Amino acid sequence: MAAKIKRNDQVQVMAGKDRGRRGQVRQVLPSDGRALVTGINMVKKHKRSTGPQQPGGIIEMEAPISLANLAVICASCGAAARLGFRMLEDGRKVRFCKKCNEAID
Ligand SMILES: [Zn+2]
Repeated sequence: MAAKIKRNDQVQVMAGKDRGRRGQVRQVLPSDGRALVTGINMVKKHKRSTGPQQPGGIIEMEAPISLANLAVICASCGAAARLGFRMLEDGRKVRFCKKCNEAID
């Protein structure tokens, strides 16, 4: 199955504690079915000091979020869109927004 969500997509969180928030996909982890999204699903991690330049403490970082909880934001209509796939005449497969019917790629 082709990936519906790609790196650098603008996405909206559809479930969980960050529901309704938007961010940009930094990385997709296909084997986990998850993605890292900028500013979404932040968790605090305790970091041990590893030297004078690397003080320990609590850092905030993004935890991977399930792709099932993300929806790509359509650049044309601005909605968190349901996507479909469509074949172009030249054989390329593109994603399109089921709401406004515009191609996403
Ligand atoms: Zn749209």
